[in-house]
Amino acid sequence: MQGKNAVVTGGARGIGEAIARVLARMGAAVIIWDVLDDQAGATARSIASDFGVKTAGMGVDVTNGESVEKATDRTVAEMGGIDILINNAGITRDGLLIRMKEDDWDKVLAINLKGVWQCTRAVGRVMLKARRGSIVNIASVVGVMGNAGQANYSASKAGVIGLTKTSAKEFASRGVRVNAVAPGYIRTAMTDKLTDEQRKRMQDLIPMGQLGTPGDVADSVAFLASDAARYITGQTINVCGGMVM
Ligand code: NDP
Repeated sequence: MQGKNAVVTGGARGIGEAIARVLARMGAAVIIWDVLDDQAGATARSIASDFGVKTAGMGVDVTNGESVEKATDRTVAEMGGIDILINNAGITRDGLLIRMKEDDWDKVLAINLKGVWQCTRAVGRVMLKARRGSIVNIASVVGVMGNAGQANYSASKAGVIGLTKTSAKEFASRGVRVNAVAPGYIRTAMTDKLTDEQRKRMQDLIPMGQLGTPGDVADSVAFLASDAARYITGQTINVCGGMVM
């Protein structure tokens, strides 16, 4: 990863921060794009001091095309290019389908799906011109298997898997690979919000019998982002303790 610049969206905390840390440990320079501007800067500084790599933190809203274009230009100007893009920013706004508010549907689709397209479009242009790059999108197993109470979220993540395949097909001939990682039940702030009953129901579905950690997801993302995965594109790896087979 030495000499490579990696952008991680939503990298200020949670799974995104874990991914940024693994990439930095492997020698990449890391640029964190997060809607939380201060937090992006703080996480970037902490990673620089822990791993001795170049880092930057930028306030970026992935739903806003102008914000993404500006961040892309700034990243290229300050770091010299972008080799790796991890589309990780994502949210949940759960509720049963028939009671779901339109705003909750729109917000989740805007961040989780349109945000991935927006960042892929802006950074993809840079990578296509350079004739190299690797993009990893963070989907979810519920995009494959569905989940009661997550109509908006599961639709957005199924969309991410489709978008991954299409961008992989469009970019392959120019040396840019696009893959996805679909995490199962991972312990983070997002899943800490679940009720005990929801948590027990999820845990019973995991053949390996335990929750995953952000590090479990990050290691698979780092593999797909690296040259070790040079002949892999358009694929989704389920990192879920066997929840989906
Ligand atoms: P977190 O909420 O901990 O982290 C998500 C980060 O993205 C936050 O820092 C968040 O900021 C940021 N973000 C939110 N909206 C935007 C935006 N518009 N532009 C830029 N950044 C934004 O979530 P997780 O670490 O748990 O999840 C990371 C990814 O993994 C998501 O895509 C999620 O769907 C996926 N995932 C998680 C699973 C889990 O079990 N945790 C399972 C399957 C998939 P803010 O705090 O302001 O919202």
